[in-house]
Amino acid sequence: MLAYTYISSGKFELIDKPKPELQSPRDAIVRITLGSICTSDLHIKHGSVPRAVPGITVGHEMVGVVEEVGSEVRSVKAGDRVTVNVETFCGECFFCQNGFVNNCTDPNGGWALGCRIDGGQAEYVRVPYAD
Ligand SMILES: [Zn+2]
Ligand SMILES: [Zn+2]
Repeated sequence: MLAYTYISSGKFELIDKPKPELQSPRDAIVRITLGSICTSDLHIKHGSVPRAVPGITVGHEMVGVVEEVGSEVRSVKAGDRVTVNVETFCGECFFCQNGFVNNCTDPNGGWALGCRIDGGQAEYVRVPYAD
């Protein structure tokens, strides 16, 4: 699939990547129908987001259709039209328990999509903690 990718400081490229797969029972795979460009994407491009990982697909604001869900996902199912929250969160860490999900300490939590893990300027995205 095509994915708009952070290559290195100052450089994004549209490249071919494998379609994402479920990695956890709490994941969903979403086929993107629309994704937006955010100023934060430009912050990544300009090197202002040190935790952004080169090689990740950018994009953290998108809508689409659920393709597949993990065995523990209860609130969405294949075929549902969804918006994907920029902040994915575990719901269990100190910050999640106190309502500050943007600071979720999980590797797939907080601003992970399109920053530390592949995001949504692509044909498909894996969404952790889909519920
Ligand atoms: Zn944004
Ligand atoms: Zn958390």
